[in-house]
Amino acid sequence: MREVTEQQRQGSAVWTARVLTLFPEMFPGPLGQSLAGKALNDGVWRLEATDIRSFAQDKHKTVDDTPFGGGPGMVMRPDVVDAALEAATGDGLKPAIYLTPRGRRVDQALVQEWAAGPGMVLLCGRYEGLDERVIASRGLLEVSLGDIVLSGGEPAAIAVIDACVRLLPGVMGAAETLEEESFERGLLEYPHYTRPAEWKGMKVPEVLLSGHHEKIRAWRLREAEAATKSRRPDLWDAYEKSSSRRKED
Ligand code: SAM
Repeated sequence: MREVTEQQRQGSAVWTARVLTLFPEMFPGPLGQSLAGKALNDGVWRLEATDIRSFAQDKHKTVDDTPFGGGPGMVMRPDVVDAALEAATGDGLKPAIYLTPRGRRVDQALVQEWAAGPGMVLLCGRYEGLDERVIASRGLLEVSLGDIVLSGGEPAAIAVIDACVRLLPGVMGAAETLEEESFERGLLEYPHYTRPAEWKGMKVPEVLLSGHHEKIRAWRLREAEAATKSRRPDLWDAYEKSSSRRKED
């Protein structure tokens, strides 16, 4: 199980995901199920979904307008989004994240950092996205789920929150489940097998049936390294560099 961080020990507030969205009914969605859902019900973390439209000023509750310079689609208005952000960050909850394909790609190191903090404010874009000035004036951290274009930030927010929540103390069971997972030590995870020991003519690797813990551990590390090297040369390079740094120290 994850250690409770100093920040979490000191802060009395429970880890909070505050989502700004034009579709609050999309929440909790998948976050209400399984591990995250149970933890939500148990009060391990908090979820607040706020409708950005409630901050619109006019009687039509307008949140978007046409882009200056022309072009397709609509852009979310800075004044409306800024008012929503003002309300969401008033108690100091941070980081304030704008989910966008133009952002830094999220990775497990970022997720670990966020899970160790007090929570996050997540702004979900729609249409063509957000007026650039509100991103700049609020100093939003721009984060992408990957090199894909979603129709809105909500699925990205759900993915980011899910990744954080499973790291919170008390959410997952066995400590080793996390420690050997993909990315936790800079490697992809080793392959898994369960019963039956032979299926469609394919046998489970002999070593896994041996009961020899040290040999199993060594085999899994080799498999994790081989998978990382062939599938993710970028991760492999970083892993090799940090391994040789560790040897030099
Ligand atoms: N016009 C934008 C572009 O080309 O970069 C795409 C806008 S997209 C249709 C609408 C919203 O979905 C974005 O404002 C953003 O909040 C969200 N979104 C789309 N792809 C995303 C991704 N890869 N990561 C995070 N959010 C994403």
